Amino acid sequence: MKLSLVVPCYNEAENVAAFLEAVIGAFDGCGYDYEIVFVNDGSSDATMHNLKKLYQVQQCPIKVISFSRNFGKESAIYAGMEYASGEYISLIDADLQQRPEIVRDMVQILDDKPEHDVVAAYQDRRGEGKVLSFFKKRFYGTINHLSDVNLHADASDFRTFRRSVRDSLLELAEYHRFSKGLFAWVGYDTCYIPYTACERHAGKTKWSFRKLINYAIEGIIGFSTKPLRYSLYIGSFTAIAAIAYLIWVVIEKLAWGITIPGYATIIVLILLLGSVQLFCIGIIGEYVGRTFEQSKDRPIYIAKEVLEYN
Ligand code: UDP
Ligand code: MG
Repeated sequence: MKLSLVVPCYNEAENVAAFLEAVIGAFDGCGYDYEIVFVNDGSSDATMHNLKKLYQVQQCPIKVISFSRNFGKESAIYAGMEYASGEYISLIDADLQQRPEIVRDMVQILDDKPEHDVVAAYQDRRGEGKVLSFFKKRFYGTINHLSDVNLHADASDFRTFRRSVRDSLLELAEYHRFSKGLFAWVGYDTCYIPYTACERHAGKTKWSFRKLINYAIEGIIGFSTKPLRYSLYIGSFTAIAAIAYLIWVVIEKLAWGITIPGYATIIVLILLLGSVQLFCIGIIGEYVGRTFEQSKDRPIYIAKEVLEYN
């Protein structure tokens, strides 16, 4: 098997058949074998029903892994990579925003240039709002500053890579997964190519602003301990400021006696120091929580049903 397409699907009932059509169209006459590994991420619509229909026909080799509930795209990618048998593995969305024709180009690049191990597509023009793109820019600026890995600002999960990269990624069995960071962490030689994301074929995006914020926190906490260091800095800074203020209060008392009650100052200081403490405890809590979850050593996903071909 030359190529495995790993396709996470969450409520993509109207897209899976069109996706298969598009793949077959794009790889027509390509001269190598390919398979599609669909991962049904606990969809609540007819996605699994439709995937089973495609599986029975087997227009091209198809595997279907169905989760017991929604575990998230990252878990779906992990499961798909486990079941992928190809020499190259490609991660692609089910909604046809990422054209399968581009995967064919990616395979060509890996064939022609043995020095590259990963071909990653990044969006050259974003069709999204100014606010979102502002926050995305800030996010990548922050994460590159805070963490030890370096992320390409517009790179997506849309990638094709060699089996060795897949093996390395599967070794990172962490519970909180952040693909872009994991790719950066395992290293390998990456070739970036631009692509334009198309409109969604059907259905709507699963990403809300809240989910994006959570994803951003995931990325920062998962790849850096610098926030802990910064909370130490903030603590040190407020301590120095407090000592300086204390000295000033003593001098003031000795020189002039107490002239003003200082009610406002006390309230402001209590609120300020209280919030700094809560902020720093919150940061520590994020790390402790993750350690707790990882220490339970739970599986990344639970497959309810696996349909493989022989
Ligand atoms: N997806 C998934 N599990 C989830 C959310 C999304 O498997 O919990 C899949 C979804 O079916 C799609 C891909 O991840 O194939 C990308 O999702 P989406 O199109 O909603 O994201 P966007 O393209 O808007 O970034
Ligand atoms: Mg999409």
